[in-house]
Amino acid sequence: MKPNLIDGAWRPGGAGAAPNVNPSDLSDRVDDYAQASAAEVDEAIAAAAAAAPGWARSDPLTRHDVLAKAAAEIAAREEDLGRLLSREEGKTLREGRAEVARAAQILSFFAGETLRQAGQILPSTRPGVGVEITREPLGVVGLITPWNFPMAIPAWKIAPAIAFGCTVVFKPAELTPGSAWALVEILHRAGLPPGVLNLAMGPGAVVGQRILDDPRIDGVSFTGSLATGRRVAAACAGAMRRCQLEMGGKNPLVVLDDADLDTAAAAAVDGAFFGTGQRCTASSRLIVTERIHSRFVEACVQRLSRLRVGHALHSDTDIGPVASEAQLAQNLDHLSVARAEGGVLRFGGDQPRRETEGYFLTPALITDTHPGMRINREETFGPIASVIRVRDYDEALATANATRFGLSAGICTSSLKYAADFKRNAEAGMVMVNLPTAGVDPHAPFGGRKASNLGPREQGGHAAEFFTVVKTSYTMPSA
Ligand code: ADP
Repeated sequence: MKPNLIDGAWRPGGAGAAPNVNPSDLSDRVDDYAQASAAEVDEAIAAAAAAAPGWARSDPLTRHDVLAKAAAEIAAREEDLGRLLSREEGKTLREGRAEVARAAQILSFFAGETLRQAGQILPSTRPGVGVEITREPLGVVGLITPWNFPMAIPAWKIAPAIAFGCTVVFKPAELTPGSAWALVEILHRAGLPPGVLNLAMGPGAVVGQRILDDPRIDGVSFTGSLATGRRVAAACAGAMRRCQLEMGGKNPLVVLDDADLDTAAAAAVDGAFFGTGQRCTASSRLIVTERIHSRFVEACVQRLSRLRVGHALHSDTDIGPVASEAQLAQNLDHLSVARAEGGVLRFGGDQPRRETEGYFLTPALITDTHPGMRINREETFGPIASVIRVRDYDEALATANATRFGLSAGICTSSLKYAADFKRNAEAGMVMVNLPTAGVDPHAPFGGRKASNLGPREQGGHAAEFFTVVKTSYTMPSA
């Protein structure tokens, strides 16, 4: 049984323990994870609040060393942590290892950031006065994360919090506590003082809600669904505290007639289906102009027919299982509604039998869809992509933007003119040209707009916008 971490002590869990089951093999129980009671969440918040002043004043080299040490251990343990991640989440071992490597890179980047925190000096409009702009830690932050990147997302919230001098109450997703626990355990051993990083595992409605309701929390960084994001935003508004929300996507990938066919099909299949399509940046709407439409669909089908769906840890698997029973049911529902609304299932969508019982679903490509259909309006979060046929670039751009979401948007074209126009006019936080909509660098800002985001960007130097507050000091030297 893996315990919670409260005020530097490992605690068994006042609300018992919950099992973590492998979605590739339902008979494989990864471990049991302590469930925090509401009183324990209160203790975790009290510990973070007590540790906050000391950690805010800590020497940046201390923070650097903890993050650098943890980064080195995570990088060295890519294989075993990758296995754990793939076992509990269901992405392939190649993807699991890549995510662990990414977590190490993120920790390394923020280790460096501790020593790069600079202010500004402005000339004053008043003679003799000095103006300084500095940043201070936000304080106690609540970090609430989803299951689809169980190590990378916690890493990109915890690392900047620690680097910029905040203390943390961290609640990982119920489905994937294993990777989160491993990350916390490594950071704890790397030398964090008690109370700086607290781990409270358990249901969103209990542990998450308790974090939202507590006035000692100075900011909440959340990644998850739009519905929960709304609750987080409402709670933060009520408490007059800062929030940083990353939510869903309905990401378009536009394919124009002049695109290189192989590049476009590769970008679509990678963007839509790798990671079992369970990425908030997944290419879920393929918006394709008329003259390339049938060749593009055929090229995608060719590629899909070569991919094997199976156990995440098997070396010949290209696409692992869907993460949970509820997620599989939602995927199947989206598929059947898409067909009922007139979509044509061109490939996949069936549940193959494998030697173990798991939530397997073959990648599904639905053609002949139109923008008003549910499959093109609601986030699916699974190995399902729809194709929308359009006349020309103008219709493609309008269709790409005809969604309430705005996380990532891609275009495949050999035209500089259309690429430049799309970069300027796509209503998304991230734009990809001749690349999948998913797949980003660890040092560049990550985030969306419209209903995909509220608050400042994550990752890279931009992370300081959430985790620090700006102070402007005016000084008149005494005569
Ligand atoms: P998903 O559909 O991906 O599970 P959720 O938004 O439900 O998305 O979950 C994202 C995270 O938000 C999880 O850690 C979950 O436990 C947490 N969560 C769910 N409900 C609440 C809530 N009422 N308050 C705070 N956190 C919550």
